[in-house]
Amino acid sequence: MKNKITILILASVLGLIALSSIQAYLISNTYELKKKAFIKETDDALEGIHEKNELDSLGDVWKEDLRNHLNDYKNNRITKAEVLSRFFIKTDSLNTLHKTYYEKELEAINLDYDVKFKQELTSIVIIEGSKLDTIYPVKNEIRTKIFGTDFKTEDGHKTNTSSWYTESEYIHQKDGEIVTDTYDLEVKTINYIQIKDWKRIVYGRMAVLFFGSLLLFLFVIGLLYYSIKNLITQKKIAEIKTDFINNITHELKTPLATLSIATKSLKNETIKANPEAFKNTLNIVDRQNERLQKLIDQVMTNSLSNEDIVLNKEQVVDTIYFNNIIEDFKLSKQYNGLTIKNEIYASEIVLRLDKFHFATAILNILENAIKYSIEPTIITFKTELKNGNYCLKITDNGIGISEKNQAHLFDKFYRVSDGDVHDVKGLGLGLYYTNQIIKAHQGSITIQSELQKGTTFTIKIPVN
Ligand code: ADP
Repeated sequence: MKNKITILILASVLGLIALSSIQAYLISNTYELKKKAFIKETDDALEGIHEKNELDSLGDVWKEDLRNHLNDYKNNRITKAEVLSRFFIKTDSLNTLHKTYYEKELEAINLDYDVKFKQELTSIVIIEGSKLDTIYPVKNEIRTKIFGTDFKTEDGHKTNTSSWYTESEYIHQKDGEIVTDTYDLEVKTINYIQIKDWKRIVYGRMAVLFFGSLLLFLFVIGLLYYSIKNLITQKKIAEIKTDFINNITHELKTPLATLSIATKSLKNETIKANPEAFKNTLNIVDRQNERLQKLIDQVMTNSLSNEDIVLNKEQVVDTIYFNNIIEDFKLSKQYNGLTIKNEIYASEIVLRLDKFHFATAILNILENAIKYSIEPTIITFKTELKNGNYCLKITDNGIGISEKNQAHLFDKFYRVSDGDVHDVKGLGLGLYYTNQIIKAHQGSITIQSELQKGTTFTIKIPVN
């Protein structure tokens, strides 16, 4: 059974890990999809922004300027490097205006998050027939940004690439004559956007999913925990029941065996002829009968919880009541190895108790002190008044109870199963009953114990 539970717990943990991994994979996939959708949504909103009047005319300005520089280059008036440096000087000078216009357009779109834009140059190429003359990129030129804010490319998102293709005319001298020639020009650029706090926005859009997954996860863990706990409890109950059946069988066997021998003896002619022996045997029958009755009563009484117990409370004077209990107990246990130290101080406090039930509760503890004793048995019975509570302390010098077992001591049918304790008879009901009775008196019972040293039971009841 234990193995089965361990396997079940292991399987559940593995299942939970697998489930979490799948869930994590799905969440990460959803995150990627949501991220892409969000960027696309922003990109769509920004679409056509460069075709707006002011930005468009700004585009015309740098394109015209570039064409002029290229004409100078074609007439060998400037070098390629100069074309590029003039191009960048021009775009730099236009950039402040570009930013202003861009922000104005952004405001008109009315996005509820902050977006920055950057345009990078990919290439400037002159095409004449099959001849390509690359102006950009060139060696030693690392600059890429032409318009917008200079954020790190990896911190932004690429939105689109654009290509400007045009035919350009230029006038130059050829063999002493002025001629007009054409060339094709291709300028390629890439656009990037940087969205402030985009992760927070995407996570925000996934909040329901996160929260739902977490709840589901907690629910599954809770369910597993509950099921396994239930299973363990069921297992314990099954064990307790088996123990109880074993114990009660054991308890019933002895008086029944004695009764059977006694009745056989009563039929015996020699015993019949001897009145003394006959009386003794009858006494044995009586005692065993009483014992069987007691056992049945114990089982019946202990099927009640503290709410079901009907108390018949009376006023008792502590010293008289407890002294009587001790005296009667001493009388019933007449053997030399027993010392009961009576530390009942003459406080004469009036308590309201059910005399019968409360005495039985205390006798259970006293009986146990002898049952689980190490000879010579010394029991101390002490009373005191503390913080408005009446305290009874019953200490023995017996075998003690380990900390692990103390926790279950007041459970129904519980018996300590380690060591040779099981050699002592019992049903595991005595302390359960005692606890129920004390609780029914609005009191409490606690235990301090050390193995091989002894045990102290402390009972507290309120003084009215
Ligand atoms: P029972 O004595 O019939 O087994 P109880 O409910 O009276 O049932 O006690 C429960 C268990 O607590 C006992 O089986 C015994 O192991 C342990 N126990 C009770 N009292 C003492 C004690 N004074 N010293 C050591 N062990 C004790």
